[in-house]
Amino acid sequence: MIDVCLLGTYGMMPMPGRWLSCALVRCGASLTLFDCGEGTQVPWKSLGWGFRQLGAICLTHMHADHIAGLPGVLFMVAHAERTEPLDIYGPPGTAYVVEGLRRIAADLPFPIHIHELKSGEQFELPAGLHGSCVAASHGVPCLAYRVELERKPLFQPEQAQALGLPVQLWSRLQHGEMARAHAHMLAEEAAALAQAAGAHALILTHFSPKISDVSIAERTARRIFTNTRSGRDGMVVTLEYSKV
Ligand SMILES: [Zn+2]
Ligand SMILES: [Zn+2]
Repeated sequence: MIDVCLLGTYGMMPMPGRWLSCALVRCGASLTLFDCGEGTQVPWKSLGWGFRQLGAICLTHMHADHIAGLPGVLFMVAHAERTEPLDIYGPPGTAYVVEGLRRIAADLPFPIHIHELKSGEQFELPAGLHGSCVAASHGVPCLAYRVELERKPLFQPEQAQALGLPVQLWSRLQHGEMARAHAHMLAEEAAALAQAAGAHALILTHFSPKISDVSIAERTARRIFTNTRSGRDGMVVTLEYSKV
């Protein structure tokens, strides 16, 4: 089971009551953060999941609205007395930017390992989550991430046979998965992508701060992909294996 909290769902700049796009993923006790814009620590504090268990940060790209909150988050993790290493993943250029930000967050009680990823690379995240990425189109090096969790309980072939499930479905039944794509695409483009990917659900995020009614984008996308929702700051989604 994976919990995903959309700490923020807006782009460009934080506004009163509107935080920048980032998602915190909880699996077991471990946390993985996706993007870290200015002020990310504030909605995170309200969530109550704590900071100590943050084992990895995956950054999509090096624009300020996705990374400027890093020093504050690192201080919160230090304040929570983490001593285990923290891995930071991102596209080429991540080390240059993160090392720059580290100059204002120099004395931390835990080591930081920076990993620059190429499109198609796979990597391991905390709590047995398996990460992979592909290049996304955004004018600067940018990655779209995919996170998968292998199903732990033993799948029983005898039981499947008794139920008459076709054999070719077994491997799919044994895996759960979650994907997050990130680029400045239109709602209908996101919907078309979700449909092409065979996704179960689509959650829209990174809204312009000028938008007052995000439900318009939601309605537009639903015409193409029915199971679409607009993300809201603080929304928690629990992903479970389909009950088969
Ligand atoms: Zn952005
Ligand atoms: Zn950007």
